[in-house]
Amino acid sequence: MTQRAPGSLTCRCGRRSVTVEEDYADPPTADRVTIDADNTAIGASYAKATGAPRFAHGFHRPPGTVTSTFGEWRTFNDGHRAQHLGLDFAAREGSPVAAIDDGIVTLVRDTFLAGTIVVIAPGGGISSLYFHFSKAFVAEGDKVAQGGKIGLVGHTGRTTGPHLHLSFHVPGGMVDPASFIKLPIDARGKLAAQTGGQVLPSASSSSAMNTATDPPG
Ligand SMILES: [Zn+2]
Repeated sequence: MTQRAPGSLTCRCGRRSVTVEEDYADPPTADRVTIDADNTAIGASYAKATGAPRFAHGFHRPPGTVTSTFGEWRTFNDGHRAQHLGLDFAAREGSPVAAIDDGIVTLVRDTFLAGTIVVIAPGGGISSLYFHFSKAFVAEGDKVAQGGKIGLVGHTGRTTGPHLHLSFHVPGGMVDPASFIKLPIDARGKLAAQTGGQVLPSASSSSAMNTATDPPG
């Protein structure tokens, strides 16, 4: 099906209903304060995604079938809708997660909605975000190499089960990780001029969550 996504881009976005624990579907006030603090921390991590690109090769695709695509609309228990701003990969609880590229860890945080998250900046203004870990092996400021183990798959935060959620933020909004994974990058780290994907501006352009309470699941 085709529908208009924010930013007037055409999006072939699927729809699905998601049932989660009531506190995650409609968080009480105290949790909303936590969610706001999480969003602020994630926004601050984007500001650290500076410097020249550190990658000299393509991004590794995480293993596992894609179970939820970028831009999909979800309807939660209470009927409110949110757009999924990342890619979900099927993965077993406790399986190791490898960094998809070289970079600097800009945030490790236990968040209300996205669970334990790791944000890695591979340079060039890009942030890659990994959600729902059961355990993180890295700390802010760490340098990670492509393929390095950064944590374990879990189902922390608002999820319906264990999986790896991956998001990409660039200045201006969230982009489809599938676009980055496909990019041909040469040995000098030269990025193709055309990323070939759509950009969906997040509400404040400062968060992976398109409203205060709606992270990618
Ligand atoms: Zn997700």
